[in-house]
Amino acid sequence: MNSESTHDSARDSAGADFIRAIIDQHMVDGTYEGRVHTRFPPEPNGYLHIGHAKSIVLNFGIAEQYGGKCNLRFDDTNPEKEEMEYIQSIQEDVRWLGFEWDGLYYASDYFEQLYQFAETLIQKGLAYVCELSADQIRETRGTPTEAGSNSPFRDRSVEENLDLFRRMRAGEFPDGSKVLRAKIDMAAPNITMRDPVLYRIRRQHHPNTGDAWCIYPTYDWAHGQSDWIEGITHSICTLEFENHRPLYDWCLDALGAAVPNRPRQIEFARLNIGYTVMSKRRLLELVREGHVSGWDDPRMPTICGMRRRGYPPEAIRSFCRAIGVSKTNSQIDIAMLEFHLREDLNRRASRVMAVLDPIKVVIENYPEGKVEQIEAENNPEDPTTGTRMLPFTRELYIERDDFREDPPKKFFRLSPGSEVRLKHTYYITCTDVVKDPVTGAVTELRCTYDPESAGGSTPDGRKVKGTLHWVSAAHAVDAEVRLYDRLFSVENPSDQAAREDVDYKSFLNPQSLQVLTGCKVEPGLREATAGTTFQFLRQGYFCPDSRDSSPERPVFNRTVSLRDSWAKIEQGGGTA
Ligand code: ATP
Ligand code: MG
Repeated sequence: MNSESTHDSARDSAGADFIRAIIDQHMVDGTYEGRVHTRFPPEPNGYLHIGHAKSIVLNFGIAEQYGGKCNLRFDDTNPEKEEMEYIQSIQEDVRWLGFEWDGLYYASDYFEQLYQFAETLIQKGLAYVCELSADQIRETRGTPTEAGSNSPFRDRSVEENLDLFRRMRAGEFPDGSKVLRAKIDMAAPNITMRDPVLYRIRRQHHPNTGDAWCIYPTYDWAHGQSDWIEGITHSICTLEFENHRPLYDWCLDALGAAVPNRPRQIEFARLNIGYTVMSKRRLLELVREGHVSGWDDPRMPTICGMRRRGYPPEAIRSFCRAIGVSKTNSQIDIAMLEFHLREDLNRRASRVMAVLDPIKVVIENYPEGKVEQIEAENNPEDPTTGTRMLPFTRELYIERDDFREDPPKKFFRLSPGSEVRLKHTYYITCTDVVKDPVTGAVTELRCTYDPESAGGSTPDGRKVKGTLHWVSAAHAVDAEVRLYDRLFSVENPSDQAAREDVDYKSFLNPQSLQVLTGCKVEPGLREATAGTTFQFLRQGYFCPDSRDSSPERPVFNRTVSLRDSWAKIEQGGGTA
């Protein structure tokens, strides 16, 4: 475990959720002789998303809390969808989140062992080779209210089953022609227990085992047995596997697994977040069809997308801990994630000045050619971060929106004749407005400054209400700034698409990316590197884009605005 993650303040305050309560009881009873061993078992068929982060924080967090272990296990039993790229990205993302696994395994490491277990099952008369097609198996499975019917191959002898299963492995039969099924009960109320498929024939190259196998175990056969082989104590998964728990237990019973070496499956509710999609299949589609620039597009709910967007891992961890775990599916508002993000960044982000929509200010009574160095604190929340020097000159840029020729009431920023403070330095007063002779648009503001106001006050005690951010025109660095909004314009794109019988992609938000060019940022930001998120004063949090930013051409992503502007807009609010 990284030392960093053990210092998260939210860790201990998370309290005992129902999973920890079960583990506490096991500790009291000595069920696992004091051992706690969890695992995070991603299928390498895509990049990890924020939902996976919940599972990671839970599994690794529990191991950490109980002095136990947590494995990273690739659930690579479905070779057609699995790729090395995903295997690598998953490791990178788990580490970036601040966790280190105790063992790194692949379900495919156990193919031989799983095969032997299956032979054991056959020998016990608990599995048979079935020649029904996939459709026939589905048709004879019954419904929740009607029992299924027995396969005509169900009563084969142990010898015949063993022979056929060995020949399945040897590649004697075509793909899809036979399966191995558990022999349980075709009338079981739980459909999962109606002779589930354990092995299929599929000639498919596997990233780990190459062409060694032409039969592959199903999730139901691979998962619990892999847990058992690894000595997992608590196998935590999402609610959709609740129906599979009796099967999970049946397989372990059939093989004679017993505590303290018998894993227990515990289910919790998936994390769902509004205005996005979370299934890897859908995320892959967005990438393939070019709706986003890649898995790490800053609008994606992926871990790498959030990293590129400027989310620190601490903020994701603290969010995952705060939402806790429960047994009921619900949707979490993205605002909650953003709350944890702002909390974290407010504490740690350096404050800098960046003008996104610049208008020039000329201070007519300030000497031409003079450059003053103004000392500016980096983070008032953390005085240990010190100060930096900012050049101040006669020509500056301020935000176009910080000036109004006809100011509405309570507009405390710049307007003809009004006085404001420039952050960290002087008071200025607007004396004149220069306009484009053709369009009439304001192109430049003429001002004067009060040389005695540098410290934020004047000898006569004059007060101003507005403080504006600025950059020296001659020293400013040109930058591109990318503003992001929700990827989808409806809260539940998948559900709504199903209800209205339309493609969920028809709900993509066409305004989810806004690119601003010609922004002017303070000179030090030229050297900013990806992985550091800044507060652009009065604007929000921004970070250099890991793919496109360079000192020659800086590009910044908006991580999150300072406050929830979305809610304000929705309420018809919005303030000056
Ligand atoms: P997806 O549909 O996005 O592909 P999955 O469940 O198939 O999700 P896996 O790679 O099988 O993805 O998941 C690895 C682990 O992460 C599993 O234990 C799974 O239960 C958990 N997990 C996946 N999605 C979520 C989620 N939204 N919330 C919490 N845990 C999740
Ligand atoms: Mg899956």
